[in-house]
Amino acid sequence: MPMPDAARRPFNFSAGPATMPEEVLRQAAEEMLDWHGTGMSVMEMSHRGDAFGSILTQAESDLRELLAIPADYAVLFAQGGALAQNALVPLNLSRGARADYVVTGSWSTKSEREARKYCDVHVAATPDGGFGDIPPPASWQVRDDAAYLHYCGNETIDGVEFDFVPAGFAPPLVADMSSNILSRPLDVAAHGCIYAGAQKNIGPAGVTLVIVRRDLLGHALPACPSAFDYAVLDANRSMYNTPPTYAIYLAGLVLQWIRRQRDGDLRGLAAVAERNRRKAALLYDCIDASSLYVNRVAPGVRSRMNVPFQLRDASLDAAFLDGAREHGLLQLKGHKSVGGMRASIYNAMPEAGVRALVDYMRDFERRH
Ligand SMILES: *Cc1c(COP(=O)(O)O)cnc(C)c1O
Repeated sequence: MPMPDAARRPFNFSAGPATMPEEVLRQAAEEMLDWHGTGMSVMEMSHRGDAFGSILTQAESDLRELLAIPADYAVLFAQGGALAQNALVPLNLSRGARADYVVTGSWSTKSEREARKYCDVHVAATPDGGFGDIPPPASWQVRDDAAYLHYCGNETIDGVEFDFVPAGFAPPLVADMSSNILSRPLDVAAHGCIYAGAQKNIGPAGVTLVIVRRDLLGHALPACPSAFDYAVLDANRSMYNTPPTYAIYLAGLVLQWIRRQRDGDLRGLAAVAERNRRKAALLYDCIDASSLYVNRVAPGVRSRMNVPFQLRDASLDAAFLDGAREHGLLQLKGHKSVGGMRASIYNAMPEAGVRALVDYMRDFERRH
């Protein structure tokens, strides 16, 4: 089967759908027409058959192992993306009563606005004067009787990431971790619910992970569609209706890829986390040492996954992007709401990609 030469594969810094581990793409290509001697592609299989059943079971157990998910949490392979969860979280968990939101960027703004359709929403904290920092938890105004306290673990557009789990609040935590799940170890037990669309750090678009403590289930609002009721999904092992089988298979390959990672003595998620730390440090150091590039996020909360930066002279933006493309560095244009550039450096972005970007940035600055 003709495959592009690894040396010619460009580095794709897209925020999502995002670059996949090349090894995973090659394995999927090899298995495309015949999965493990079944004579079928995974996408052709019945979701109720043994073959797909084993793929789903393996993916769930790999995820449970990687994130040390306690047994009293359900793992759901849902659909609709993270934006659907903005409605499904209140439909499933708010009981139509109160829910509190920490708003630190574009995505948590959307979450908070959508929830207003279903429950009594209160913004517990948001930074003064624009996004780019996280107010200290001691200043948050959280209602003790809220059904949950929602935050976004990593603001993909604004480049703001929690490097801590909020602690000491009465309501269970609900976190949108679409763009940083599996980038480092995560204290699942400190949360009531974690959700993440797959297309940033897990696999292709089409599957949405929901990890939810089972004692929170069973109180969905009557208006909640059955196919999106967490308790129904849990009782049916994510197969109340046809799940996104091929996306789950690819996510499963990515989970196995994570388990295989090594970095010195570190293994699995710890190895991935260390590599992510180095990649982000390389890029932020380049930006901070430069007089052309600037990142305006408070240093303590800078995202390790999405690095927005501006050129101090915005008239150079087009030349920067054109030159980057010529160097095989793709999708660096920033989100339209923020402007400038954004480099998304998820798990699957190799260190070589970040080095190539930094080399290009330094060279571009010298020439301008
Ligand atoms: C991408 C993203 C979303 C939206 O995900 P969809 O799958 O497009 O619904 C929501 N939240 C965060 C943090 C994201 O990165």
